[in-house]
Amino acid sequence: MAVKLNKIIQTIEALAPEKLAEDWDNVGLQVGSRQQRINRILLTLDITVDVVDEAVKKKVDLIIAHHPFIFNGLKTLSTDFEKGQIIEQLIKNEVAVYVAHTNLDKAAKGLNHYLAEMIGLESIKTLEHSNPAAYYKLVVFTPVEASQKIIEVLGKNGAGAIGDYDYCTYRSTGIGTFRPLQGANPFVGQINKLTCVSEDRIEAIVAAPDLKNLIAALKRNHPYEEMAYDVIALENGDLINENGLGKIGVLSQPLEASGFITHIKTRLGLTALRGAGELPDIVRRVAICSGAGADMIGLAKAKRADVLITGDLKHHDGQRALENNIWVLDAGHYGTEKWVTNCFKQMLEAGLGDTCPEMIVAEASRDFIVTY
Ligand SMILES: [Zn+2]
Repeated sequence: MAVKLNKIIQTIEALAPEKLAEDWDNVGLQVGSRQQRINRILLTLDITVDVVDEAVKKKVDLIIAHHPFIFNGLKTLSTDFEKGQIIEQLIKNEVAVYVAHTNLDKAAKGLNHYLAEMIGLESIKTLEHSNPAAYYKLVVFTPVEASQKIIEVLGKNGAGAIGDYDYCTYRSTGIGTFRPLQGANPFVGQINKLTCVSEDRIEAIVAAPDLKNLIAALKRNHPYEEMAYDVIALENGDLINENGLGKIGVLSQPLEASGFITHIKTRLGLTALRGAGELPDIVRRVAICSGAGADMIGLAKAKRADVLITGDLKHHDGQRALENNIWVLDAGHYGTEKWVTNCFKQMLEAGLGDTCPEMIVAEASRDFIVTY
């Protein structure tokens, strides 16, 4: 079914907002227009000449990729170079390109969560919470009759989002007092008269990056000339916010190390696995970080993981695994991230339901590293 590209982007960003991406990253719409109508989508880890050829041959309108194809800024669009040729092909054939990269890696229910479920983990938690994980409790006072509207403004602007719920607020009723002074233009009450009004105290949590816009939206919609509100810093941001790199969880059935190797090969569809560090007797607690996650070795150990699964393990990462007394398995950058196509598929099917366009996994996307 045809759906506007804008709707597809909104569906992905509801789970993996662009603001989660690292500063050095380049995510979002890279080629095309949000107004384009999309009938068919090609899902891929990387964008290469072969992937674009496949997109054209299979008449797709959109490529959704994990790795940015325009990354460090383009200096030229000359078609004497491969990048220029790819862009020419895409534009000539009206194929748009959308990228979700580190925002998808760090999303609470993004790629790492998908992988953690795939390898059978339970009680899944974030390995390294996004920094800063700052949250505030916003308290706003409003005349009772305006409460519903204020709650809608809170929810629409991201306040009260906790796990699988949004619009989480708490309201209690009391009496507010004020005295309008000369020059005021009060919604209720008279100049120089102490006024008592039945008011609601509405509370909701809000993530630090959303606070400024939220307060501005509330002020635009609040009936009072002077909106009374409090902003209270919270200490439990890490508990509210499950966004961040990597996941840690437990296997429902602990496995011996050899059984765990077989288990991971089967679940991730791998013919080989590299490893470093001492093998534990029993594997129960497992950390996973897609792509290149060797930086997580210390954190995985601190969080008592029996093993860390990641990709791109280098010689000195192996040394660190030994020094930290933790077992690390290298399932490959491609080996862990090729599953991003299924992750995108799951997100779009759940978010778009019957209106979801046809989705094809790119056959031309492949591991650049070959084991002979
Ligand atoms: Zn990657």
